[in-house]
Amino acid sequence: MTRAADIKVVSLAGDDGKRRSVAERICGNCGARGHVPSRGATGRGMPPEAINRMFRAKGWELGIAAFSERCPDCVAAAKISETMEEPAMPEIKSPNSIAAIAALPATAPRSITPDDRRLIFVKLGDVYDDGAGGYVVGWTDKRVSQDLGCPLAWVSEVREQMFGPLKANPEILALLEECRRILDKAEERFMAAQRQHNETVLAISAADKRLSAEGARVVDVFRGITEDMDRTRAKLRKIEQAVLP
Ligand SMILES: [Zn+2]
Repeated sequence: MTRAADIKVVSLAGDDGKRRSVAERICGNCGARGHVPSRGATGRGMPPEAINRMFRAKGWELGIAAFSERCPDCVAAAKISETMEEPAMPEIKSPNSIAAIAALPATAPRSITPDDRRLIFVKLGDVYDDGAGGYVVGWTDKRVSQDLGCPLAWVSEVREQMFGPLKANPEILALLEECRRILDKAEERFMAAQRQHNETVLAISAADKRLSAEGARVVDVFRGITEDMDRTRAKLRKIEQAVLP
């Protein structure tokens, strides 16, 4: 990889009027300025290699000092004067990510570059536990390759080279997977049982309310009967007093 001058970060207003930190390069020939994002989607500052790669993808030629750097227009102009005698070649758009490079037709297989290695190594730093000799839960060579959009073999190669072989034994991994599956099932059953329990509690509560209302009605009926009986007894006493000596 060509060495590149230090990256300058400036604050620039975007189309939406918001100011953002962006990486800036100034053409050593015409003074044109070029910008690329200096922070990734997560807000973390991007490594200089990634920023330089974006500039190169936009057609910048980077030099060891700012004066030797060239904007895409100057690069194109220099190429034209270099190849005046040669027939014009169709312009090949430079791919701007590992994904784009990896997606190139199979007729043009690409071998891993130092830049790729560095990018994979940076990613491994986030998801590989060197002390434990394995990936943190949920990560594998395959997932890293999918995440970066590069061939699986590249990830395995860099990981072997930097961290050595995975300590976790495939049989243990399979066993772990099996345990996880059983746990998932148990959890599913537990949730179903809990749902059923909740439904039962609701049903009992509803039935309880109905029974209470029914009970209150029965008490009313009894009270009515008792009052009737009292009134009848009083009448009977009056009749007795009138009739008996
Ligand atoms: Zn220029």
